[in-house]
Amino acid sequence: MLDRARAMQEELIRLRRDIHAYPELGFQEVRTAALVADTLQEIGGITIRTGVGKTGVIGEIGSGDGPVIAIRADMDALPIQEKTGLVYASQNDGVMHACGHDAHTAMLLGAAHLLKQSMAEEEWRGRVRFLFQPSEEAFGANGISGATAMIDDGAMEGVDRVIALHVISNVPSGELHFSDGPSLANVDSFRAWIQGDGGHGAAPHEGSDPLHMLASILPDIYAIPSRRINPLHPCVVSLGMIQAGSATNVIPGEVHLAGTIRSFDQPTREKLWFEVENALRLSEMMGGSYRFELTRGYPAMINDKQVNDWMRQVAHDFGYNAAIKDEPFGMGAEDFAYMTQKAPGAMFFLGAEIPDGMMRNHHTDIFDIDESVMPLGAAILAETARRFVTGQLDE
Ligand SMILES: [Zn+2]
Ligand SMILES: [Zn+2]
Repeated sequence: MLDRARAMQEELIRLRRDIHAYPELGFQEVRTAALVADTLQEIGGITIRTGVGKTGVIGEIGSGDGPVIAIRADMDALPIQEKTGLVYASQNDGVMHACGHDAHTAMLLGAAHLLKQSMAEEEWRGRVRFLFQPSEEAFGANGISGATAMIDDGAMEGVDRVIALHVISNVPSGELHFSDGPSLANVDSFRAWIQGDGGHGAAPHEGSDPLHMLASILPDIYAIPSRRINPLHPCVVSLGMIQAGSATNVIPGEVHLAGTIRSFDQPTREKLWFEVENALRLSEMMGGSYRFELTRGYPAMINDKQVNDWMRQVAHDFGYNAAIKDEPFGMGAEDFAYMTQKAPGAMFFLGAEIPDGMMRNHHTDIFDIDESVMPLGAAILAETARRFVTGQLDE
C-alpha cells in the first residue's frame, strides 16, 4: 500500500496545491467540494453524495453487509492573508489554508484511489465511507460546525469505526503521534461583565468600582485550576480579553472580560463553569453585580485505543516503528470529536515539519507543510480501512 501511495506522490501534491490556491471558508467550500466529487468520479466505482451538511461530500466504496469504516477529512480554510510567497499561494484574498486541511483533503482522495487500486471486487466484505466535511474551524450561522452538519445529514449512520489524521507543522516530518482516550479538550468560552457605579476618580468612596472588584476576581479565576480542581484532572482557564474605561479620571461603570475554559472530562468541565461564575460573585460582596455568559464549544476528542492500535500496527508494518510516538495532543480542540461520539474512532497526528529550522505554526500567515509526508498519511488511512473491511482486524 505504501509503495502504491509513493507512486501517487505527484498526484497528491498536485491536488493539495490546487486546493491550497483556492481556499474557501467554512460552509463555502463549493469549488473544493466540486474538485473532490470530480476526483472521486474519475477514480470510479465510488458512490458519491454532494451537498451533505451544506457543502460536504460523501463517497462510498465496497459491497456487502459487512462492517463500515469512515475516514474523515476537513476542507475549510481560515480568514488569514497568506504571506508564504509560494507559487501556489492563495488566490483568494484574506483566505488561506493555514491548518493543512488542503493536505487532509488530498490525502483522503489518495486513500480512496489506493483502495480502488488495491482491492479486487470479490475481496470486499464491507464498505469504506469517505467523509469530506465543511467548516471544522468555526461554527456556521446555524451554530454548528461541519462535523455536526454532516452527522445531522446521516454521515455516520451505519458507521462502525471512524478514523482521521491531522498534519502538524512543528512535529518532525514523518513522525506519528498517537494518544489513547481523551486527546483533545472540551473547549468552552465565556464572556462576563462586572458592574459597579463608576464615578469621579477623585471620589472612589462615593460609589463602587468594578476595576477594584476585578482586582480581587482575577486571582480567584487564575486559582481555579490549582485550588478548585482535582490536580489529576487536566484543565485550563485563560482570559483573552479585558476591556474597561476611557479616561484617566473616570472610574468606569463596567468591566468586560472574556476567556476560554478547557478540560478533558465532563464533571471537570461543569465544575469549571461553576467556579468561573463563582469567582465573579465576589463583585456582589463588593457592592457590584455581574453578568455571565457561557458558550459551549467542541467536546473532548476521545480516541479509541483499539482503533489506535490498528493504525499503530499499520505504521509498524510499513517500517515506521521508530516514528511512532505516544504523545499527549494538548488542550486544543477538533470537531472530529463529535464523530468519535457516534462510533469508536481515533485521529493521529502526522508530523509534517519542513526541515529547515523555520517555525511555520498553524493558523499563521506563513504556515506550510512538508508535502512528502502525504503518501504515508494516505497509505495508513487506506491500509487500516482495507484491513477492517477484509476482516483482518480483531473486533
Ligand atoms: Zn486549525
Ligand atoms: Zn485543523
